[in-house]
Amino acid sequence: MAELVVKENLLIRMQADVKRAVQKPENERRWGMVIDLRKCVGCHACTVSCIAENKLPPGVVYRPVLDQEIGTYPNVTRRFVPRPCMQCDNPSCVSVCPVRATWKRHDGVVIVDYDRCIGCRYCLTACPYGARTSDFGNYYTEHTPEIQPYEKQPSNEYCKSWDRHGNRSPVGNARKCHFCLHRLEQGLLPQCVSTCVGRANYFGDIHDARSLVAQMAKSANQIKLLEEKGTRPTVIYLV
Ligand code: SF4
Repeated sequence: MAELVVKENLLIRMQADVKRAVQKPENERRWGMVIDLRKCVGCHACTVSCIAENKLPPGVVYRPVLDQEIGTYPNVTRRFVPRPCMQCDNPSCVSVCPVRATWKRHDGVVIVDYDRCIGCRYCLTACPYGARTSDFGNYYTEHTPEIQPYEKQPSNEYCKSWDRHGNRSPVGNARKCHFCLHRLEQGLLPQCVSTCVGRANYFGDIHDARSLVAQMAKSANQIKLLEEKGTRPTVIYLV
């Protein structure tokens, strides 16, 4: 009788890793992401699910998937590169902020305080990855008979409720990927990781040797983007 091979469900494994990590104090865990470019099929599901999860308006995209052509004809290949915030260890976006509205948390995530941000956009220019965008307060359905109610729903970023019309609003501010901190607090994976059809994303606590992401982060075939910029990006790509 043929041997039954039960493959490990990566999402369930990583979900357990996240649940274990959130039991620890913030300064004892370190969120990390590894993206296997050999598995990314360029479907953009992560981009779209991130927009839906974070209620992102037109012009604000936290996780685009870049389409690269590599080589010279006829030896050309195509590669898809998801590009979240690199959660840099030396983030150039932080040092240029004149009002200290952005900083790196102990768990490794670089965040923006919408209550403090004045919308100067220095950080957009400083980030070499283009990982920050401005919220100009637009709606996808603004030139239709009615702005659809789902576009006016508050965002739950940073475990708060940001109303697009109230006093606490991200409109006019810089916005960026934050590894779905509001989901992590609930023991859930970032939306992009959950949605990836190719299972190209690994996520969890890099400080936890048992976690899948910590094991994948030891892969030899890894690169980081634009390391020469000195930002010390933490997102790892497998090639
Ligand atoms: Fe800042 Fe850009 Fe690095 Fe993200 S990728 S931490 S926005 S410099």
